Formats: sequence, structure tokens, C-alpha cells
Amino acid sequence: MLMPTPTPILRNAMTIDVEDYFQVSAFAPYIARSDWDARECRVERNIERILALLADRKTKATFFTLGWIAERYPHVVRAIVDQGHELASHGYGHQRASDLTPAEFAQDIGRAKKLLEDLGGHEVLGYRAPSFSIGEGNLWAFDSLLAAGYRYSSSVYPIKHDHYGMPDSPRFAYPVRDGLLEVPVTTLRLFNKNLPSSGGGYFRLLPYAVSRWLIAQVNARDQQSAVFYFHPWEIDSEQPRIAGIDGKTRFRHYVNIDRTHDRIAQLLSDFAWGRMDEIFLGAQTQAQIRRVQA
Ligand SMILES: [Zn+2]
Repeated sequence: MLMPTPTPILRNAMTIDVEDYFQVSAFAPYIARSDWDARECRVERNIERILALLADRKTKATFFTLGWIAERYPHVVRAIVDQGHELASHGYGHQRASDLTPAEFAQDIGRAKKLLEDLGGHEVLGYRAPSFSIGEGNLWAFDSLLAAGYRYSSSVYPIKHDHYGMPDSPRFAYPVRDGLLEVPVTTLRLFNKNLPSSGGGYFRLLPYAVSRWLIAQVNARDQQSAVFYFHPWEIDSEQPRIAGIDGKTRFRHYVNIDRTHDRIAQLLSDFAWGRMDEIFLGAQTQAQIRRVQA
């Protein structure tokens, strides 16, 4: 008797932007860069919790890590790599790409790549711009990424948002240069609009069942892997509260923060997940990843 061929399960990419709560772009008007070192650091403990959760679910993920964090917490970087996750770059100092000149941008992404490779011992292939800050006004950033040796970017958000977005750009992975892929975080096309379906503030705001439905729709209808993202501070309900911030910023940063850890745990159970490089760059590229330090 012939058995039906099982449908392969589509794997989605789980990604974490490794930065601390005081580095969030929306807080930039309230917290001077020069004050970062004086702030209570929470990222170490939060990454430990994320690594424990991923180990428990036998899931590998991609960590887009700030050079600033890597430099101060090298053991965090090593723990990420030692546990089989992909170490990728979130730039050095969390400045929006759209705020930098081409020379400043090249310096920032090059510095972060070198630092992460020295600490992690593997070539760094992926980059995500702070606040998805590559868009129509600075597509030259792709030339810099290619020149710096990156193979993929996850920096263009195909939605309309007050801080970022390029609503008419493709929703799924596409080559932006010969040798450089853009892999946008996921949206669902509904009512002629792209709805954010892939994490951040929206994931905290929406009921979990809605978030799960959005990802399931992308898998079923578009037959595409979703790219989900969150930040270590989003699972930390005890982080120090920033005083004097405006209402919108406060709401966006803290809404449902006490529920996010458990929601992510649920998400890890409800879908199959993997690393960006494994899902989007394929086996051939994997074989080419060489150890920087033999
Ligand atoms: Zn960021």
C-alpha cells in the first residue's frame, strides 16, 4: 500500500536583536549615548534566559548582535556561538543607517563584523540595520554591506510606519546585489496592505492567537518561511523604567512586556524554527562558511 508523502514542515527563522533596553532608538531623545555605560545592564541575564528557552525547545536561532554589547560581554557572544546559534551583526553603535553618511556606515558595519568574528570565531554573514533603517533614501547601504563581506541583510521593512518602512518593497527574500540577499521580516498581505506579522511591539500588543494566525497564513498561503524578531528587553518585566518619556513611546516599549516570555515559548512550540543562514542561504553556502580561527 502506498503511503502519502508527508508535506515537509516549513521552518521559520527565529531572530533576536541583541541590545539593551537603554539603546532602543525611541529612547534616543531621552538617554544620551554617553550615559549607556552608567546604566544598569540587563542584556546578559536576558540572553541567558533566551538561550535556556531555545535549548529547552531544541531550537537554533540567529542573534543580530550589537558590537557595543559584544565588546563588553564577550562571554555572551561565545555562549551564543557555543550553543550552535548563528551570530550576526546589528552594527556597532545602534545608529540608524539613515542617519549615517556612507563612510560612517561602512565604518560601523565593518567594525561590528570584525569584532563579532574575532570573538565568535566564525564568519559573520548577516546584518540587520537598527530600526530597519534601510529604505528608499539610502539603498547605497547595500553596496557597503556587500563590500564589507555580508551575504544577507534583514533591514528593509515592507510596511508604513512612522519611524521606518518601505511599503512597496518585496515581502520575501530577494537579491539586492549580486551576492547579497535582503530577507525582510514578515508581513501578511491583507486588504491591500502589508500587516506586520513578525514580532516587535506588534507581537506584544496583539493577542497571541492573532500572531499565530498571521504566521500560519504566511506559511500556508504564501508557502514562505516567516522571519520573527524580538529583543532581550522584551522578556524583562523588571527592567528599570525610563522616566519622563512621552506616552506613545512608553506604551510601545512596555505594553504586555510581562507576557512576552511565555508567548515566545508558545511560539517555539507552535511552529518549526531555525537560523537565518540555514533557511535562506542554503546548504551550499553553509559548506562555504569557514572557521576564521582554525
Ligand atoms: Zn535594534
